[in-house]
Amino acid sequence: MVPPDLVDKVLGALDPAGVVDLAAALVRINSVFDPEAGTSEQEAAEFVARWAERQGFAVAVEEAAPRRPNVLVTLAGSPGGDRTLMFEGHTDVVTPGDPAAWTHPPFSAAIVGRRMFGRGTNDTKGNLAAMLCAMAAIRRAGVPLHGDILGGVLCDEEGAMTGVQDFIRRGHADRVSAAVICEPQDGLLCTSQKGAVRARFTVTGRMCHGAMPLSGLNPAPAVAEILRGLEELEEEACRTLGRDPDLNWPSFTPTVIQAPPEGPAQLNVVPGRAVVLVDVRTIPRQSHPAIVERLRRLAEETRRRVGQATRERDRRRGVTRDPEPGVAVEILSDRPCTQTDRGDPVVRAAAWATRAVTGREPAYGGVPGATDGTFLAAWKGIPIVTLGAGDREVPHQVDEWVDLDQLVETARIYALTALAYLGSPQP
Ligand SMILES: [Zn+2]
Repeated sequence: MVPPDLVDKVLGALDPAGVVDLAAALVRINSVFDPEAGTSEQEAAEFVARWAERQGFAVAVEEAAPRRPNVLVTLAGSPGGDRTLMFEGHTDVVTPGDPAAWTHPPFSAAIVGRRMFGRGTNDTKGNLAAMLCAMAAIRRAGVPLHGDILGGVLCDEEGAMTGVQDFIRRGHADRVSAAVICEPQDGLLCTSQKGAVRARFTVTGRMCHGAMPLSGLNPAPAVAEILRGLEELEEEACRTLGRDPDLNWPSFTPTVIQAPPEGPAQLNVVPGRAVVLVDVRTIPRQSHPAIVERLRRLAEETRRRVGQATRERDRRRGVTRDPEPGVAVEILSDRPCTQTDRGDPVVRAAAWATRAVTGREPAYGGVPGATDGTFLAAWKGIPIVTLGAGDREVPHQVDEWVDLDQLVETARIYALTALAYLGSPQP
């Protein structure tokens, strides 16, 4: 796919210690978005911008939100190339929680043996360093590229993903023909990502004394009906769609159940309201509009069924009251499922690069959650492959770590992926 002398030239220009040093420098910058503590992605973004300028890249810094910049690092190819390969990595990290719970301080980037520990080592500052060093190696090697490489160093991946949305709104994605999403997937080539629909059910009853429950209306029976309905929806989705080989089963998971939703809960008080938060995760072929419709219908049926059952019981007991609870559902977010064909040029380039670097056949997989790539794929139809170093279950944990050999291997795979994707004139 790529002449061996070019491969040697680029891999020879990639400095393994440079990858480790850059990763450590990024981890030492606390980039948790926490307005109260005064931390954000700003300092890490500025650090990347200065580093990239020193390497000779064209660099642009754009504020996606106050103190939350995106950094765009460009390596221009030969004139006439019509592809742009984007490497995407985020600068934000999630909170370390209680620092005392960590064996090594969370922003120390301590190295023990071949592991680096710290918040962001795995998700995803290690991979961010790998993609930047891969770009630097290609630049130093001076190999011709028939297209540009765009390093998207974006903010707010762990939150509302405003960084990638800003990147798209400003038109930068228009010229991106494919993207490598640099996230910890343990070397797997991930060509699909689960989608997500998040919803809030609110049940409204009437608050009353626990000793006189018939004087109010308990929201609990409606909550039970909602939970049962979600189980049925999940069962139906699993039955009709089956298990996705990369993404596993679809799920309808009630994650938060609160009654009352605010104020103290008291044993002798029937709460006036209850909320159920639902995290629906989808696999390809599942229609999101149909799911939203089913959730609305579940709210409607719950109101009717619980009202009917309560009315009948009340009649037998001679109780008069309004027996119907209010049941509303609100869609909080809707992120589609994405899938890239394994025959797509960017997937083939990454597969070839993985083989060339590791000597092994690549293993394929799927991303269980959403990433910035979700928006690139869903809004702009950009083929994406998610690939990076780091155990897949370690993100967001205490004592987060990354294997340094795998990290350097990943930088090599990124570099050769770009060479393969942009290495020869496209027909
Ligand atoms: Zn991440």
